[in-house]
Amino acid sequence: MIRDGDRIAVAVSGGKDSLTLLEALLALRQKAPIEFSLTAFTVEQGKFLRPVEPLRVHLEARGVPWVYYHDIPSFRLLREQPEHGCDLCSRYRRRAVYEIASGLGANVIAFGHTADDFCEAFLRNALFTGKLSALPPVAHSRDRQFRLIRPLLYVTEEMTSAFARALELPLVPCGCSQKTGTVRERIRGMLAELEKEYPTVKQNLLTAMGNLQLERLLDVRYLGEQTPAMAADPLPVLPAD
Ligand code: SF4
Repeated sequence: MIRDGDRIAVAVSGGKDSLTLLEALLALRQKAPIEFSLTAFTVEQGKFLRPVEPLRVHLEARGVPWVYYHDIPSFRLLREQPEHGCDLCSRYRRRAVYEIASGLGANVIAFGHTADDFCEAFLRNALFTGKLSALPPVAHSRDRQFRLIRPLLYVTEEMTSAFARALELPLVPCGCSQKTGTVRERIRGMLAELEKEYPTVKQNLLTAMGNLQLERLLDVRYLGEQTPAMAADPLPVLPAD
């Protein structure tokens, strides 16, 4: 995920996850047998509910260079289509992120998606888009200029919340965090409900994402293929009658 000489731009949204990610990368940089640099950046899309000044003070104290980027097209979008959805918003943000990372001379962009995000994306895609997929832990931008990494994939939001509280990290909430009735919120609620009775469901989902049994799914590209898993654990042969 991280290689010697990487110049990592860390996406800091002002939430508990991205600030935890930054702390984790700072700790890793001290101990890792490789060298890499860290710069934080924040895209202002007009949705923060509080001033970002405490964030600036915090990052300065942590010795992390920070770029605070007012994304003018996002402000225009907010003005002209205040009810725009997440698809449009994240498309605007992605463009801004690539512009910032390019300006910083970074070759890696780190995002603070957590285990919860992976589980939610997995269920959302399966239930609403007909795809078995979650988020890429390591990927490349389309032109391969950047490696995109999500180091917190095994870290739950229970952990990032506790961490942010313990370190009194300066959280800057986004207006969207107060939206209700979204699919994301429903899936979160469903997982939380299940977890009360089955505390390992999230862990099991993450394990399932790394343990595909392609021959027992319905993708015709794999039907009839003799995979190693199938050879080790063949389907029962039904008696002909
Ligand atoms: S939750 Fe809000 S900030 Fe996040 S992508 Fe959706 S509209 Fe944008």
